[in-house]
Amino acid sequence: MKDTHKHQGMRRQLAETVAAKGITDKKVLDAIRAIPRHLFLDSSFEDHAYVDKAFPIRAGQTISQPFTVAFQTELLQVGPNHKVLEIGTGSGYQTAVLLHLKAKVYTIERQQELFKKTNLFFERMGYRPKKVVFGDGYKGLPENAPFDSIIVTAGAPEVPRALLGQLKIGGRLVVPIGDDEQVMTLFVRKSEKEFEKKELGAFRFVPMLENKN
Ligand code: SAH
Repeated sequence: MKDTHKHQGMRRQLAETVAAKGITDKKVLDAIRAIPRHLFLDSSFEDHAYVDKAFPIRAGQTISQPFTVAFQTELLQVGPNHKVLEIGTGSGYQTAVLLHLKAKVYTIERQQELFKKTNLFFERMGYRPKKVVFGDGYKGLPENAPFDSIIVTAGAPEVPRALLGQLKIGGRLVVPIGDDEQVMTLFVRKSEKEFEKKELGAFRFVPMLENKN
């Protein structure tokens, strides 16, 4: 598949749609305009790539809705060279958005099939996250902590405690919390032991599951 003027036009539209829904961060909107989302889907679903909707990928998982990606990314306040941990690599689209913001990205996926497929895709496309890990996001990545921010792209039944402990002071964790429906939740680490918590509206994600291997 190629990236054509038509795709670029559709992406400009998509960025406008996302902006109309409340996203104001210019760099995030730039990322939406820049990243060829259709290449993150199987070719038969190309037509769905620039609609502001989640879409099934493999293994019962989804590529998050562009608005949701933009909303979570805006909350992270990514700066150049920030160390960012992503839980739920999935299609890799969110990873690509973070890379576009010049973050150093560490990403974890628990579905082996997806992990392999997306890892190859990153290589083919020249996307260079620092690490793509097959493992359990509930554990985070202690060997690379602390992080400037952590984004969870699956619905967690409660806040994953290990992740809070892997934030820098001033660091931000964005995690959708809940079972059927999730509340987007932002934690900011104020000190070693204190976290500020904000709840930012309802979303729907596939569940964050433990990886028992
Ligand atoms: N960021 C992805 C969203 C994928 S959906 C994208 O842009 O496409 C959420 C992903 O989280 C799924 O791929 C799912 O397999 C993964 N996931 C669920 N629980 C997990 C866990 N405990 N650790 C790592 N990944 C997990």
